[in-house]
Amino acid sequence: MDSPHNPPPSLELLIGDITGEDVDAIVNAANSSLLGGGGVDGAIHRAAGPELVEHCRTLGGCETGQAKITPGFKLLARWVIHTVGPVWHGGTRGEPELLASCYRESLARADEVGAATVAFPAISTGVYGYPIETAAAVAVGTIRSTPTNVSEVRLVAFNQQTLDAYRELL
Ligand code: ADP
Repeated sequence: MDSPHNPPPSLELLIGDITGEDVDAIVNAANSSLLGGGGVDGAIHRAAGPELVEHCRTLGGCETGQAKITPGFKLLARWVIHTVGPVWHGGTRGEPELLASCYRESLARADEVGAATVAFPAISTGVYGYPIETAAAVAVGTIRSTPTNVSEVRLVAFNQQTLDAYRELL
C-alpha cells in the first residue's frame, strides 16, 4: 500500500475538543507512563472510559518521540495514538527532532491500522511548554513531508493562539 506517489494528506484546521472528533484515530499528547495525566491526555482518558488505562497498563510506557496505538473504547474514534512529546528546555536538547518524530511515528501507527483520517492536538504546547509558533511549524512541515496513506489530518486547536499559529502557516 505504501507508495511514494501518495499525495500529502489534506490539512483541516479547527478549534475545539479533540475527544469529540469523528475520525479514525485521534492522537493523544501523552506522558511516558501512558497512564493518563492532565490536559488533552486527561480529557481523552475521561471520554474513552476506564478500559483505556487498563489497556495502556499493558504497553510498558512509551519513549519521547515514539507512538503507540490503542483502541478508542467509548470515543467516536476507533483508535487512539499515544505519542510522547518533548518537554521544552529552550530548543537545544533535540526538541524539534523529537517533536517531528511524534508526528511521523503517529502517522506510521495510523498507516499500520489503515486509518485514513487522523486528528492531532498541538503536541507539547501545553504543560510541556513548547512555544506554539515553532511547534506549529514543526507539525505542519512534518505532516506535509511524511509519506503516508492518511488522506486527511485535522489540526485541533484548543485555544485562539494555537488556531492563529496554524493559520499563519496554512
Ligand atoms: P503536553 O504535555 O504535550 O504539553 P497538554 O495536554 O498539556 O500536553 O497540551 C497539549 C495541547 O493540547 C495544548 O495546546 C492544549 O491547549 C491542548 N488541549 C488540551 N485539552 C485539549 C482537548 N480536550 N482537545 C484538544 N486539545 C487540547
